[in-house]
Amino acid sequence: METISKEVFLAARKCPRKGWNLQHRVDEQEPSIGDRFRMRQGLEIGEMARALQRDGVLVGAVNAEEAEKITRALSGDADVRTIFEATALYDHYAARADMLTRVNGGWHLWEVKSAVKEKKEHLDDLAYTMMVMRYAGYEIKEVSLLLLSRDYRFGDAVEDLFMEVTKTGSALQRCREFSINADELGLEILGCSAPTAEIGFVCKNCEYFTSSCVGVGLEASLFCLPRLSEKKFEQLREIGALRVSDIPEGFTLTENQQRFYDVMKSQVPWVSEDLGEVLNEAEWPVYYLDFETTMTAIPLYPGLAPYATIPTQYSIHIMHTAGGALEERSYLGDPSENPQRVLAEKLIRDLGEGGSIMVYSGYEKRIIKAMKEQFDDLAGALEQILERLFDLEAVIRKHYSHPDFLGRTSIKQTLPVLAPEMSYKNLSIQDGDSAAVLFAEMAQGRYTADEVKKIRQDLLAYCRMDTLGMVSIHEALRKITN
Ligand code: SF4
Repeated sequence: METISKEVFLAARKCPRKGWNLQHRVDEQEPSIGDRFRMRQGLEIGEMARALQRDGVLVGAVNAEEAEKITRALSGDADVRTIFEATALYDHYAARADMLTRVNGGWHLWEVKSAVKEKKEHLDDLAYTMMVMRYAGYEIKEVSLLLLSRDYRFGDAVEDLFMEVTKTGSALQRCREFSINADELGLEILGCSAPTAEIGFVCKNCEYFTSSCVGVGLEASLFCLPRLSEKKFEQLREIGALRVSDIPEGFTLTENQQRFYDVMKSQVPWVSEDLGEVLNEAEWPVYYLDFETTMTAIPLYPGLAPYATIPTQYSIHIMHTAGGALEERSYLGDPSENPQRVLAEKLIRDLGEGGSIMVYSGYEKRIIKAMKEQFDDLAGALEQILERLFDLEAVIRKHYSHPDFLGRTSIKQTLPVLAPEMSYKNLSIQDGDSAAVLFAEMAQGRYTADEVKKIRQDLLAYCRMDTLGMVSIHEALRKITN
């Protein structure tokens, strides 16, 4: 029997076409290295949660119908107090509860999440599982999330890792909302033809938008408008606009949106009168700085909590005078021990005592502030570094706009426009998420010595590209003002 999963149902509630696409595996992508890491992490946390309920029985079957039969048999055995991966079927809907524990006259449903704080989607996850379990005849009396505790530290007992959040009332309410049109939605999801796709605000971050759905061939859609609200999107749709170029003159936009609109209409870059002056505030030598970090649900090193951000490496390029030669410095921690302290000390030495420290985004500032809080004895030196920071992305956001930026200012968007000769294409690591995961996996001992050697080279090359990219963007902007 073809079954519908929680992921598909929840996607279909937002957009039936999206649910249909997932069910029918349209444009199915290989999971990224980061996705695979998070899946594995989720499984590990699930196992740890199960270790707390020693009397539990695991429903191991992968096939949903088989798992449902096993669950039913276990639920009928009064000696079984807890069922892990309890599976229920209702019509085509399949649900797996991380844990079902017996309570007076019914069951307590648990979902284990590798998160330290509750997210909106957690309630939907619970409500879906509750809905299918109830339809399948299970009396669900209580519903809870098991989240990770912020107070947990590396090496603490597993009992201290989890924190219960009771959600019975809100899950039941959401479950009732889900039940209203679950049958019709199921028919749409399983239908032979895809539901009609209509552009809506929900398309904004949809992976199908430009690959196979309503955004195909839509150059500079409304979603490129900076900070577009749902209300404004709906107003624009009412007058038939799909692209930025469809927006009529005089339509009320914010200052940033208006600037972007003007740039897109004219197809001519916009340069603020102050760009040259602002760039001149950067003092030579300029130190271009970029960090990479990692974070894991289960801490990697003593003293750390779940999802502590650990700076693992940096790249610095130094230009002593405008257009002069570049000097390089870098650091990549040894994953077998917490690199934070050594990194902070070396960073202070490598950044010297004068000149601006150019970064791209506010991320480096947040990392240095966290280091300052962590290491009292380095606080003075780190404060001086903070005072020298110069955020190049903030300069672009306020003082320069190019039609090919498509309303974005990330380095991956601006670099190919301002310095087309620079590219991440030939690098083995192409994004920060992969860099973070690879470091964590080295720390977990998942690679051979030869693999570690190669990964370290790739990490250094990736981080180096970020600072070289910044050098090129800075140069390009200076040329524009000259
Ligand atoms: S792009 Fe929009 S209509 Fe298409 S699947 Fe995504 S959310 Fe649905």
